[in-house]
Amino acid sequence: MKADAGRKYRAYPTEVQDQVLVRWGHTARALWNVALEQRVYLWEQRRYTLRSVEQCKFPTAARTDLDWMGDLPAQSGQQVLRSLDRAYDNFWNPSHPAGFPARKKRGHRLSIPLPGQAVEVRKLNRKWAEVRLPKLGWLRFRLSRAIGGTVRNATMSRDGNGWHVSFGVHTGRMPDVPNGKPACGVDFGVAASAFVSTETTPRLMAPSLKAKEKKRLKALEQRKARQITYAKKHNDGKYSRRLRTTDLSVKSMTASAKGAAEAPGKNVRAKAGLNRSVLDNTPGERRRQLEYKARMYGSVLVAVPPFHTSQTCAACGLVDPGSRKGRGRLFACTRCGYEDDADHNASMEIEARARRTGGSDINSTRSIPRMRVPATGRRRMREALQPAHAG
Ligand SMILES: [Zn+2]
Repeated sequence: MKADAGRKYRAYPTEVQDQVLVRWGHTARALWNVALEQRVYLWEQRRYTLRSVEQCKFPTAARTDLDWMGDLPAQSGQQVLRSLDRAYDNFWNPSHPAGFPARKKRGHRLSIPLPGQAVEVRKLNRKWAEVRLPKLGWLRFRLSRAIGGTVRNATMSRDGNGWHVSFGVHTGRMPDVPNGKPACGVDFGVAASAFVSTETTPRLMAPSLKAKEKKRLKALEQRKARQITYAKKHNDGKYSRRLRTTDLSVKSMTASAKGAAEAPGKNVRAKAGLNRSVLDNTPGERRRQLEYKARMYGSVLVAVPPFHTSQTCAACGLVDPGSRKGRGRLFACTRCGYEDDADHNASMEIEARARRTGGSDINSTRSIPRMRVPATGRRRMREALQPAHAG
């Protein structure tokens, strides 16, 4: 019974719980770093691979000597070591993009992992539920969606938006039977849109700021401009305390999605919305969601190497950057004269490649891992893409 879905909820610890969780978070981080160091040392000195099963005895011993180590629930410490196992596994797996396990720095998001057996969840009403953590008691969280399965593991985490509780859930939901629907190619734009080969217009992503957020941002910008004018006129251009506050608000609305955990700022809600829309536009997240949602609806996702899809003619297969030259959004083939919206042409090419590479598997639920084609491979691929009947 493995966890096959993730659920993340906003958690609302009491002040006391918050203090304990912060302490645990740093202990878990320190344990990760020490455990990583021990594994690196053993490998370098004795070519010995240490796994969590064996490494578990060290924190157990340390718990009696170090107060702060004994404070962290034992199951949590074991879970940290198991996560380290997984970090190593991902690093060794050639089709996984992960690098060598990294040390966790002080400013990073805090995270306290727990196995499913250590926690208990109960629903309070339609909107609220509680999770019982070892040593900490019941902790409230906002039940924004149903859990819908058995809790296999739980993680308390804190980032710029505050505390969250995430559950790994076993839903038991099987992949749907193949739906037999026709295939289509999708070309994802850098940040803005997706073009589907069977459609005539691009699908635009929702703008990153909502109308209300835009209005607030505009008002803040105006206030800032007014305060700067005043500062120049009466204050030798020196920022007043109020101007600094305004500037901070503007920055917090427009800054990158990385919130600082130590100083959450004032526009937490606006920032949360912004974070969400930034996440919606993140290629990796989009890909991850597509992959598991496709399974749920009986579809197959076939990833294809994207090289030169924008320069390849969907009609005759010629690869030529000249087909795009000076023509903006338009694709015009230099050989056969085929004309199309550049992104739509790319989506057609992507569909064709998917048929070539994953054609026989189109009815299975296999997903092809991300490919990394070296430069020489690219040339070979370009040659392979030239159709035999070209002339
Ligand atoms: Zn052509």
